[in-house]
Amino acid sequence: MDASQRPARRSWAEPWKVKMVEPIAMLTRDQRERAIRTAGYNTFLLKSEEVYIDLLTDSGTSAMSDWQWAGMMLGDEAYAGSKNFYNLEAAIRKHYGYKHIVPTHQGRGAEHLLSKVTIKPGDFIPGNMYFTTTRVHQELAGGTFVDVIIDEAHDPEIELPFKGNVDLDKFEALIRKVGAEKIPYITVHATVNMAGGQPVSMANVKAVSDLAKTHGIKVFLDATRAVENAYFIQQREVGYSTKSVAEILLEFCSHSDGCTMSGKKDALVNIGGWLAVNDDRIFEDATNLVVIYEGLQTYGGMAGRDMEAMARGIVESVQDDHIRARIGQVEYLGNKLIEWGIPIVRPVGGHAIYLDAKKFCPHLPQDAFPAQTLAAELYADSGVRAMERGIVSAGRNKDTGDHYYPKLELVRLTIPRRVYTQAHMDVVAESVAAVNDERAKIRGLRMVYEPKYLRFFQARFEPN
Ligand SMILES: *Cc1c(COP(=O)(O)O)cnc(C)c1O
Repeated sequence: MDASQRPARRSWAEPWKVKMVEPIAMLTRDQRERAIRTAGYNTFLLKSEEVYIDLLTDSGTSAMSDWQWAGMMLGDEAYAGSKNFYNLEAAIRKHYGYKHIVPTHQGRGAEHLLSKVTIKPGDFIPGNMYFTTTRVHQELAGGTFVDVIIDEAHDPEIELPFKGNVDLDKFEALIRKVGAEKIPYITVHATVNMAGGQPVSMANVKAVSDLAKTHGIKVFLDATRAVENAYFIQQREVGYSTKSVAEILLEFCSHSDGCTMSGKKDALVNIGGWLAVNDDRIFEDATNLVVIYEGLQTYGGMAGRDMEAMARGIVESVQDDHIRARIGQVEYLGNKLIEWGIPIVRPVGGHAIYLDAKKFCPHLPQDAFPAQTLAAELYADSGVRAMERGIVSAGRNKDTGDHYYPKLELVRLTIPRRVYTQAHMDVVAESVAAVNDERAKIRGLRMVYEPKYLRFFQARFEPN
C-alpha cells in the first residue's frame, strides 16, 4: 500500500510503558452467573477476584508511576509535621492555587468538614447536579441540595461542548427565592460525574463566581476531575487551545474560594483527599474539626507515604501528554460504541462511558432497575464490571420516602488511569454489543435489601 491509499492519520499512544503486570482472572460463564447471583446482582458486592476487566470506578484504581512508588519509600511517618505533608501542600498551591490545605483520608472527608463548617440547618446548597456523598454530607449538616445544572445535562443525547455548566438563571432564581443569607456556597463539580463526566467552561465558572460574589455566596469546586475539565477547555473553548492544561487548571480554580478533592481520581493515587480554602476562618474551623474526624492537620488520615505519592501524582496529572492519553482512551471506547449504534451519553465525557439503560431496555419501567440489570448482564457476559448510575444511586427523597426518579438511568463504564490497554477496550465494546443484541430478553430486578444511606453500595436484588 502506498502513502496515498493509507488513511491520513498519526496515532498517539500512552506516554509510558509497562514495568510490572498483575494477572487477572478469567472465569467461565457459569462461574460468573453464580458469582453475580451470590452478589445480589450488585456489582459492588462482587469480589475483585471474580472480575476480568474492572470498570466499576476510576476511584483509587489508577496505576502509580515508578516516580510515585519511589516517593512511597520516602514516607516521613512522623505523627506531626511530616515533610510529605509540606510537599503535598506545595504541589496543591502550585497547581490548584489555593492558600490553605486540610488533608483528609479521601474526598468525602473533605465534604464532611466543609459541610459541617459552613452549613446551618435550613440552608440551601446549589450545585451542578448532585453527587452521592456530597449531597449526603450537605443533608446531614441540615442543608438542602438544589440542582442548578443546565437542563440539557439531563438529556443523554444533546451534544454540547460544556454540558456540565451551571444554569445562571436557576442559580439566580434560588437566590431570589430563599435569600443569599441561606446559601453558604455553591458547589461546582468539574467535570460533572453524574451527568457523564461533562465539563464546565471557563466562561461559566467565571460567571458563577461573579454572580455569587455580588451576593456574598462562596464558590467551592468539587475538583475531583478538574484536570480532565481543564483538558476539555483546552480542546473546546475559544482562546484556550494554546494554553497548557496546568495553566488552565490554575485559572479555573482562581474563580473559586476553595475545593473538595478526591485524590483517588485525577491525582493518580489509591487513597487520599483534601479540602482547600482561601478563607482564614473556614480554614481555622476545618483545622479544628479535622483532628476529630480524620487525623492531625498534617496527615488527615493519610500515611506520610500516601501524601508523597499524591504530591507526585498531582505533578504528573497536569502534564498534557498524560491527560491527552487518558481521555483519548475513553474516547476510543466511546467512538467504537457510537459507531456500532449503541446508545451512550453524548458527547463522551472525561472518565467514563455511560450506557443509556432507558434506551437499551425501553420495555422496563424504571423501578425494575434497568441500569442495575444491565450492569449484571454485562458482568455475566464477559466479566466486565460496571456500575449503576440511575434510580438505585439516586436514593429516596428524605421527606416523602419515595424513590427519586432521575431522568438519567445509566450504566457507567469507568476507565482507570494507566491500567488497561486498547485491546481491553475492544473486549469491553464487543461485550456491550453482545448484551445489546440480546436486550429484549432482559427482565429487570427487584430490590430485596435496601440500606438506609448510599444504598447502591450494598443493596441486594433478585431477578423478576
Ligand atoms: C469520588 C468522588 C467524590 C468522593 O470522593 P471519595 O474519595 O470517594 O470519598 C466526590 N465527588 C466526586 C465528583 C467524585 O467523583
